[in-house]
Amino acid sequence: MIKLHDKYFKPFISAKEIDDALQRLVDEIAEDVGDEIPVFVGILNGSFMLTSDFVKKYPNTCEVTFIKLASYEGVKSTEDIQRLIGLTQDLTNRTVIILEDIIDTGNTLHEVHRIFKNENVKALKIATLFYKPEAYKKDFKLHYVGIEIPNKFIVGYGLDYDGLGRHLPEVYQIKDTQHMTNLVLFGPPGAGKGTQAEFLKEKYNLVHISTGDVFRYNIKNDTALGMLAKSYIEKGALVPDQVTIDMLNAEVDKNADANGFIFDGFPRTNAQAEALDKLMDSKDSQINAMIALEVDDEVLVKRLLERGKTSGRKDDANEDVIRNRIKVYYDETAILKDFYTAQDKYFGVDGVGSIEDITQRLNAVIDKL
Ligand code: AMP
Repeated sequence: MIKLHDKYFKPFISAKEIDDALQRLVDEIAEDVGDEIPVFVGILNGSFMLTSDFVKKYPNTCEVTFIKLASYEGVKSTEDIQRLIGLTQDLTNRTVIILEDIIDTGNTLHEVHRIFKNENVKALKIATLFYKPEAYKKDFKLHYVGIEIPNKFIVGYGLDYDGLGRHLPEVYQIKDTQHMTNLVLFGPPGAGKGTQAEFLKEKYNLVHISTGDVFRYNIKNDTALGMLAKSYIEKGALVPDQVTIDMLNAEVDKNADANGFIFDGFPRTNAQAEALDKLMDSKDSQINAMIALEVDDEVLVKRLLERGKTSGRKDDANEDVIRNRIKVYYDETAILKDFYTAQDKYFGVDGVGSIEDITQRLNAVIDKL
């Protein structure tokens, strides 16, 4: 992923795919042109890289010239095409092949046709490396098309976003979801995830999703999901993966505009972690970090029994259930440390001390991400 100005872009078309498409264009055009000496006209600025690579591949003698037009403002194509440098040579009776980096609305192409209307060329052919069929609104024939792409803004290989990105040898596509911060708050039951999540969501403007809270809300409201989850929760066991994953997907979807999420109590299994990666990927995003609050078991049991006196949570009231939850954490959940360590995303934080001290330790980790 790359950032240009305020926007994020993801890799879209590799240098190799571009090279292959260029070669196909060269072969087709060379075949059609035969022995004639064509004049290739690159449309600046975008097609400087394409024109250079194209003519290096072209197997026969050719001429190269440029015209300079400008149409884009930011990420929007404008109707108003400015002619900055026009034709500087006589092209009467020549075979002219326009080399465009991209054709989207066709406004630039309209201007090109206007420029050539009175030039008495022998033939005017249009070649474009990229073509957005969904955006194209004109009737001009496109004689040679490299790669058809969806109607999304791209940069690289000559194409820019407000001046940046032209130098990139591959093409990047704008990300649908702009940058999010997504954290997994991790740790055994009673580690203080819920308490800390409240501070973090304020400070970083994130949406906090606690799967435990969502289950408890559903149990309280006697929903089908609540009834399904209840027996597991009361024993301190995990609710089945698919039920939990479906619920989490729905919670994330409810907050489509979020700056990011704090996942608290999720994922708890490898299957959930994989499902979460997939979900983030579908949003053009990712988990930035798993931050684990590390607290000793005996401290946890004491904290949870204390919390049980006021929380009304049945699974906090009974020491056996508490110990089972901690055991389930070590048996089934702690393996996720390896999952996120392998991605360089695991950060352990000492979860013993005052609430403020622990918040500060968490802030220090997040601010460095
Ligand atoms: P918590 O509030 O995170 O301690 O969760 C309370 C209970 O809800 C757990 O003991 C599980 O029974 C259930 N639960 C919460 N999150 C999950 C999850 N990600 N996967 C399976 N069960 C969960």
